[in-house]
Amino acid sequence: MNCRHCGTPLTHTFVDLGFAPPSNAYLTEADLSKPEKYYPLKVKVCDCCWLVQTEDYAQADELFSADYAYFSSTSSGWLAHAKRYAEQMMQQLGLYADSFVIEVASNDGYLLKNFVEAGIPCLGIEPTVSTAKAAEQLGIPVLREFFGEALGKRLAKEGSQADLIAGNNVYAHVPDINDFTKGLKAALKPGGTITLEFPHLMRLIEDSQFDTIYHEHFSYLSLFTVSKIFATVGLRVWHVEEQSTHGGSLRIFGCHADDARQTTKAVLRILQEEAQRGMQTLAPYVEFHPRADRIKNDLLEFLIQQKNAGKTIAAYGAAAKGNTLLNYAGVKPDLLPFVSDAAAAKQEKLMPGSHIPIMNPQAIIEAKPDYVLILPWNIAEEVESQLSKVLPNAQFVTAVPALKVQ
Ligand SMILES: [Zn+2]
Repeated sequence: MNCRHCGTPLTHTFVDLGFAPPSNAYLTEADLSKPEKYYPLKVKVCDCCWLVQTEDYAQADELFSADYAYFSSTSSGWLAHAKRYAEQMMQQLGLYADSFVIEVASNDGYLLKNFVEAGIPCLGIEPTVSTAKAAEQLGIPVLREFFGEALGKRLAKEGSQADLIAGNNVYAHVPDINDFTKGLKAALKPGGTITLEFPHLMRLIEDSQFDTIYHEHFSYLSLFTVSKIFATVGLRVWHVEEQSTHGGSLRIFGCHADDARQTTKAVLRILQEEAQRGMQTLAPYVEFHPRADRIKNDLLEFLIQQKNAGKTIAAYGAAAKGNTLLNYAGVKPDLLPFVSDAAAAKQEKLMPGSHIPIMNPQAIIEAKPDYVLILPWNIAEEVESQLSKVLPNAQFVTAVPALKVQ
């Protein structure tokens, strides 16, 4: 396989998590009588542009099925993050009723609704039917398509170039990152701004976040690599902000390469930090796998110990990262009987691979487990502050970056 960005043959493995079903392929009881599809979950690193990427195995359309269950508005923390973002952009970029905002992967309208409320015209792009419908109900126009160069050019031709193109947690999820970036270039008005948020590869490595690796997540990005990809299509990263979301994300600000805005010190600082950590050398990549194994072993040991001691345990948050962790560790319902989740679309289903049942949040309150394993550790604080009120005697457990019980 060659690098999806620069075409260099990929010879170095970053992490090999064996085989796993797509992390969003939640099952119904009826599905259990059918075979379950497993794909290799292996991640490579390119020693030329340092793009970390999943090995090719399947088409994107197999992964984003019509009943894809993730609704962004389920997390109150994420909703607040989106609102702050919208307010910041309106103020910084001086957006008003004549401006135009596009969000790629607009999901259920969790972000664009803030622009609608402010009277700023916007367009969502979202191929997933269930979430697109939810956004339309909020008054957001949605194109139900995948974004790329063809769509970017069509929008430009129709006079629909944007002052602001937002992409939150989509850039790492696109199979063809070059085509997507060309689309951004085409759909951006002269003088316009692109913002993209994605988990920062430097934090993923630092905190051993191997559970954020799944098939739908094609790329793991450093600022170095994103700057390189932008440059090849005539865009430039002129500013960057660090965010605490998803275990440490970057929000990059892009513009046309010839834009008058100067590249800020923040960009240079993060590029320097990445270089100091050796991210343009092989060392941090080849040292990653053993740390993933330690986390897996510690979790298994904990679950077995508690079971032998007669303690009860349940999980909270049927997140994609939970599926990577549980499947790599081989955890089944005998060690973890169920997981509660607030998303109605996931309830009454089973986690892919592990077949752990997903229940509503009431189930965990009634079960009163001794331990609650919080799978989406990135929202652990939010979950813990809610659950500790109704489960005063439970201890809360997270597995990444290291097993923590409190
Ligand atoms: Zn490359």
